Amino acid sequence: MIIAIDGPAASGKSVTAKKVADKLDFLHLNTGLMYRAVTLHFINSGVNINNETDILSGLKKMSILFDSMDSNKILLNGQDVSKIIRNKLIDSKVSEVSAIRSVREKLVVQQREIAKNNDIVIEGRDIGSYVFPNADFKFFLTADINVRAKRRYEQKKIKDVSLNNVLFDLKQRDKYDKNRKYSPLVISDDAIVIDTSDLNIEEQVNKIVKIINKER
Ligand code: C5P
Repeated sequence: MIIAIDGPAASGKSVTAKKVADKLDFLHLNTGLMYRAVTLHFINSGVNINNETDILSGLKKMSILFDSMDSNKILLNGQDVSKIIRNKLIDSKVSEVSAIRSVREKLVVQQREIAKNNDIVIEGRDIGSYVFPNADFKFFLTADINVRAKRRYEQKKIKDVSLNNVLFDLKQRDKYDKNRKYSPLVISDDAIVIDTSDLNIEEQVNKIVKIINKER
């Protein structure tokens, strides 16, 4: 069974998806981590993202794997990069890298492979709309932009980054993710939309699990 959870940054997707997967005893796949890892790889190897030959050669030299015991632990070329890919630099570059068609093509193949023959909760931006259009359940989490910024700000608590910086970054990423040519962030017609602005994590997890258990 495939459960797709999409939504913009800081809508509560990641923690919700992980908890839903744990409750159902399903696998969990966070596809945002994969786009973040590619971004780090391109920065580390000096790939020019405006040059397709450079991009393709960079992608050939990249391996992305998840730790089988911890779905939030991602290995880039054998190294655990789970922490570093959540930094400010990656935040500011990831939308640009994830708009590249060849990057998406490569990661989508891997995402479909991971999900094959598994019960899985997959989170991202294009899971219900593109990667798994026939997913058994599609959820789209939204939240007021100011609530999202506050959540992200409190989560990160980085020195020298103000709430306004976080708000600006989220708006930029939303704009990029919604307007890119390949697999933009859209709400599928058949997705169940959940506004998490006034919900805590437990409430949103329970809401989703209840819907799944009622219908499966
Ligand atoms: O979910 P997270 O905020 O970590 O994702 C980082 C970025 O990766 C997003 O802003 C988006 O640009 C990209 N992404 C994507 N498609 C996905 C998951 C993430 O384009 N399925």
